[in-house]
Amino acid sequence: MSTKNKVALVTGGSRGLGRNMAINIAKKGMGVVVTYNSNKEEAGKVVAAIQSLGQKAAAFQLDTSNIKQFDGFFNELTTYLNKETGGPNFDFLINNAGTALYAPFAETTEEQFDAVMNIHFKGVFFLTQKALPFINDGGRIINISSGLARFSFPGSSAYGSMKSAIETLTRYLAKELGSRRIAANVVAPGAIATDFGGGRTRDNKEVNQQIASVTALGRVGEPEDIGGIVAFLCTEEAGWINGQRIEASGGMML
Ligand code: NDP
Repeated sequence: MSTKNKVALVTGGSRGLGRNMAINIAKKGMGVVVTYNSNKEEAGKVVAAIQSLGQKAAAFQLDTSNIKQFDGFFNELTTYLNKETGGPNFDFLINNAGTALYAPFAETTEEQFDAVMNIHFKGVFFLTQKALPFINDGGRIINISSGLARFSFPGSSAYGSMKSAIETLTRYLAKELGSRRIAANVVAPGAIATDFGGGRTRDNKEVNQQIASVTALGRVGEPEDIGGIVAFLCTEEAGWINGQRIEASGGMML
C-alpha cells in the first residue's frame, strides 16, 4: 500500500496534536482533510501549510460531539473528494478532536459527563460508523486516547474513563473490520504542551515541572512527539500493527 494518492481525515486538525498529525501525514505524501470546531482561521493555516508541501488539503467545520451534523458533514466531504480525487472515499480516519475536563469525581456534573462522553466516546463511535462506507478497504483508523487511561490523576475520572472506552472500542473495530483489511489502533499521548486544558501543561510552570518529574525522559511532550507516530501508522510499513495501544509519553508514570 503506497501512500501515493491516499487521503487522511484528521478531526480537530486546526490546532495542537491534530495540526501536527496533519502536517506529518502530508510530509509522507498524502492528502489531508482536517476538521475544526470554531477556529476556521487556524484550520485555513493548516491547509495552506499542507498545500505548500505539495499535497491536497481542505478544512471543514464539524462539531464531533453533535451526531446530527454528521450526515451533512459527510455530504460536504464526499462532494469535495469526488471533485478532487474522482471518488468519495478516503483511507485514514484519525479521531483526534477533543476537549479537557478537570473535575473531581465527587463534583462532576451530569452535564460535564455528557459533554466529555459526547466528544470523546459517542461522537467517535458514530463518526467512525458513518465514515465506514467511505473508508477504502485496506484503510486505517487511529483513535487518540491518553496516558490517563493507564494511570490516574485526580480530576480526570470522566475523561480518563472515556479514553478507556475508546481503547476498548478500538479492539472491537480491529476485530470487526479485519475482513475489509482495515486496521484500527490507539495512540495514547502523555501530557503534551498544547492549548488543551487552557494550555496548563505548556503554560503552568508548576504543572509542567510536575509532569516532567514523573516522566522518564524528563520533560513534557510537544506536538512533534506525536504527529510523526500517527503519520507512521498510515504507512505501508505499519500495516501489520492492528488492535494495539501505542503510548507516547516519554515514559510517564512508569
Ligand atoms: P487542543 O486543545 O490543542 O486542540 C483541540 C482540537 O480539537 C482543535 O482542533 C479544536 O478545534 C478541536 N475541537 C475542540 N472541540 C471540538 C468539537 N466539539 N468538535 C470538533 N472539534 C473540536 O488539544 P490537543 O491537540 O492537545 O488534543 C487533541 C487530542 O489529544 C484530544 O483528543 C485529547 O484528548 C488528546 N490528548 C491530549 C493530550 C495533551 O496533553 N494535550 C494528552 C493526551 C491526549 P478548534 O480549533 O476549532 O477549537
